[in-house]
Amino acid sequence: MAWSGKDKVVGRGQPGGTRRQWMRREYLLSALLGLIIVGSLVITLVSVIPRSSAQPDFERHFYCTKCKSEFTLNLKDLSPEQQMKLTPGPYGQAGIDCPKCGAKNSAVVMARCVNPQCKRWYPVPMVSPAQGGPSTLICPYCKVDQAAYVVEHLPK
Ligand SMILES: [Zn+2]
Ligand SMILES: [Zn+2]
Repeated sequence: MAWSGKDKVVGRGQPGGTRRQWMRREYLLSALLGLIIVGSLVITLVSVIPRSSAQPDFERHFYCTKCKSEFTLNLKDLSPEQQMKLTPGPYGQAGIDCPKCGAKNSAVVMARCVNPQCKRWYPVPMVSPAQGGPSTLICPYCKVDQAAYVVEHLPK
């Protein structure tokens, strides 16, 4: 390239490097930010309920609405596309494809009831509040409002 020599001259004396390196760095930075945002949305969704300390950080219980099987998956093993399906969006959420029966968008994240008398797992509704879904999580077994329970039992 004819201007590569000039490029080097421009870059000399600038600790930040050449313009091309800068653009590359900005691109990487925005890609990284995108990842962090998507990651934190998924984590927000699935950690409405405090995680038990025994449970590895990214392992989540799933429930298939088609074959009714329950299984665990590590969020780190999900593709970005699968993670997006677990993220609240303007059209609600889709589940991920079930690895057991192969049904499309049928596996949803489960949460564990915070009530120590109950502690049962239940599927998190995959409809966002904007789409008429619940704005809080209520355990289908003991009917405890999960968010309210956590707030009431915050360590003082
Ligand atoms: Zn299934
Ligand atoms: Zn419960």
